Amino acid sequence: KRRGGNGLFVVDDLGEALLDRYRRLEVDLVEVITRGQLHNDYQPVVESGTGALAGLETLIRWTHPELGVVPPSSLIPMAERAGFIDSIGRWVLQQALSDARRWARTQSRPFSLAVNVSPQQLMSVGFVEVVRDVLDAVQDLSPDRLVLEITESVFLRDGRKALQVLGELRELGVTLALDDFGTGYSSLSYLRQFPVDILKIDRTFISEIDTDPASSAIVGAVTDLAHRLGLVVVAEGVETAAQRRAVVDLGCDYSQGYYFARPLSAPDVDRLLHRPRLTLPGGS
Ligand code: C2E
Ligand code: MG
Ligand code: MG
Ligand code: MG
Repeated sequence: KRRGGNGLFVVDDLGEALLDRYRRLEVDLVEVITRGQLHNDYQPVVESGTGALAGLETLIRWTHPELGVVPPSSLIPMAERAGFIDSIGRWVLQQALSDARRWARTQSRPFSLAVNVSPQQLMSVGFVEVVRDVLDAVQDLSPDRLVLEITESVFLRDGRKALQVLGELRELGVTLALDDFGTGYSSLSYLRQFPVDILKIDRTFISEIDTDPASSAIVGAVTDLAHRLGLVVVAEGVETAAQRRAVVDLGCDYSQGYYFARPLSAPDVDRLLHRPRLTLPGGS
């Protein structure tokens, strides 16, 4: 079940003894929510050209009492297998919206809040109702400020069902993003059929964008295509000034990555939002 991602490296590094324990984590999942071991970090999304804050992406963190931080690339698949993805997903959404509500009060400039949704979560019965309920509870946040990030793999499972769910989410007024574009079975027909608003180009392309002509050609072409389809483009994983320059030159509207900011704790976002100018990095 090699899904890729950082989780596997973590497991490999732990060694056999720890690996056993790691397997036991699935059992511990039951207690995760009740014991307060989860929290959300938030990574800024900025306008590529100006570095102005445009949004925040919610990234779940699980701090295990013995093992420390378990990355979402391990937590999410475990939660899906163990049948907890709905509870965890609901917790993430509620927490993110309650934080966003606090931020919206102190902020005159509107910004978006992105939440990742796993394929199994998206397709589960009642997901649309959960989103509606959570949005209803947060009056201060206009639904289009909520961005739900999905991956192409949802279309593989049951494309028709996925299309229906996305349509219902659309009716709620939320914004939809296609995450990690270019890594999966990227098919242009998805872009034609599925009602997404944002395309997030995976960081594997961005990491080579200034050194590998093929990567930069792909990012440029995908960006142009997305724009012609009326989509907004986010470059993921911008780490250096050179990558940022390339991303700007190729027309990616928004950027996210360590160059601008790492994922921040909620209190760090509070502090960030109190700065007079919201321009990253450097700020002030
Ligand atoms: P993603 O949605 O593509 O999120 C971006 C990931 O890239 C995050 O990893 C982020 O910390 C990392 N990242 C951001 N900028 C850079 C950079 O400049 N360089 C590098 N090397 N990495 C960067 P993270 O937090 O480990 O999350 C991994 C994945 O786990 C996410 O990928 C997302 O698919 C999933 N995930 C995270 N939180 C949730 C959640 O609440 N629910 C669900 N279903 N999935 C989640
Ligand atoms: Mg994402
Ligand atoms: Mg991504
Ligand atoms: Mg990614």
